[in-house]
Amino acid sequence: MLDTAIIGAGPAGLAAAHALKQRGLPYTHLERYTAPGGLWNIDAPGSPMYESAHFISSRTMSGFPSYPMPDDYPDYPDHRQILAYLQGFARDNHLDQQIEYGTEVERVERLEDGYRLTRQDGRTTEHAHIVIASGVQWIPNVIDLPGTYAGEVRHTVTYRSAKELEGRRVLVVGAGNSGADIACDAARSAEHAAISLRRGYHFIPKHVFGKPSDVFADEGPTMPMWLEQRVFGVLLRVLNGDLTRLGLQKPDHKVFETHPLMNTQLLHHLGHGDITARPGIATTSGTTVAFTDGTTEDVDLILLATGYHHAVPYAQDLVGDGPHPDFYLTAFSRHAGLYGLGFVETNGAAYVLMEQLAQMIAQHIEDRGARPDRWLEFENLIATDQPDLTRGIRFVDSPRHAGYVDGVAITRYLHKTAKRMGWTIP
Ligand SMILES: Cc1cc2nc3c(=O)[nH]c(=O)nc-3n(C[C@H](O)[C@H](O)[C@H](O)COP(=O)(O)OP(=O)(O)OC[C@H]3O[C@@H](n4cnc5c(N)ncnc54)[C@H](O)[C@@H]3O)c2cc1C
Repeated sequence: MLDTAIIGAGPAGLAAAHALKQRGLPYTHLERYTAPGGLWNIDAPGSPMYESAHFISSRTMSGFPSYPMPDDYPDYPDHRQILAYLQGFARDNHLDQQIEYGTEVERVERLEDGYRLTRQDGRTTEHAHIVIASGVQWIPNVIDLPGTYAGEVRHTVTYRSAKELEGRRVLVVGAGNSGADIACDAARSAEHAAISLRRGYHFIPKHVFGKPSDVFADEGPTMPMWLEQRVFGVLLRVLNGDLTRLGLQKPDHKVFETHPLMNTQLLHHLGHGDITARPGIATTSGTTVAFTDGTTEDVDLILLATGYHHAVPYAQDLVGDGPHPDFYLTAFSRHAGLYGLGFVETNGAAYVLMEQLAQMIAQHIEDRGARPDRWLEFENLIATDQPDLTRGIRFVDSPRHAGYVDGVAITRYLHKTAKRMGWTIP
């Protein structure tokens, strides 16, 4: 029987390996780095990890369902704890021994029946199935700055520690969760710190009434989305007040319509004058940056926290050129036998979904040999089913939010689909 090749040993690849192993299905597992854990290996070349990084979803909601995070972890574990947790998952499920470390996949091609995989050393193997689990935060989206900036410009993928900011005049561009964390590092360490945001955001506190926010939301009553947006909108106004007093712009969208920005530390630093909020950049000249509101900053380092390209360089022709691969339920390609894990962009914790999807992929692969009728039935769903996974949220029109799904909606739909197929998922 031809096996499945899993590319990548981050959390997604480990979840896939675990699901196949549990069913006794053969697989080959390839990882270019020397250890499991994916981008949480801060020393892995090209990793976007930095010293001050913590999880933004809570320990309680974030672990694999089959392997919860340790009880003695804090509500929001740091990057070392996440790495230790992932390596524990690999070790305790005996996944380590089967990983070919130091093996980079260079090309995946479709054959008439299956796939040919080429490693960087030129060795090729054929596989019936491929699971792409190589991550989406490795290829930086580097934007062009307008004007003629003469200082240093770096993408945050190269940023590791606040020490790099000491004595510098720093501007962070963009306020995803990494941008906000690094702006806080700059607020504490740099000689001068500013952050440029093109729009206003809703800042979600990490705790609400003493509970991690995702636990609080999960334990609360189920509400229609319009009501949930209203209730949380009021709650955030009570907790954070009017953010324009801190120099931030008023959000141009409702709560939950962008990826949650879980950082109220930035508000703390803005309130203490440790960092200045600026709107989008209009132009630059020398070390002067002029913003769209006419204000200026003199900075010698610009850190671009402008996200990543969700590319799959070794199989781009198979996954398409869109901002996200157009896979059914974020995991099942229209090419039979091709799967992707870790492509899900959602407002919930990713590892629960990774394990649920990994279990579905393994059961679909098992059906191919054992229950061909059911395999065909699901192939038909992959080709035709187009569920709405937004739960009524109108995500903002941006590359990051193309293909974005609501965590509750996708979880419900995965359970419904698994039930229909007679599969079990956690
Ligand atoms: C700062 C930060 C905070 C985050 N916080 C959270 C959070 O709170 N909750 C949450 O759910 N998610 C969070 N995430 C999301 C994050 O994307 C996941 O935690 C996770 O690491 C993604 O897993 P992955 O396995 O898909 O990819 P990765 O972790 O990127 O792993 C991919 C693996 O594939 C390998 N690889 C790549 N290309 C090849 C190749 N060609 N050949 C062989 N191997 C290859 C890489 O070396 C890597 O080991 C956070 C991310 C960051 C950066």
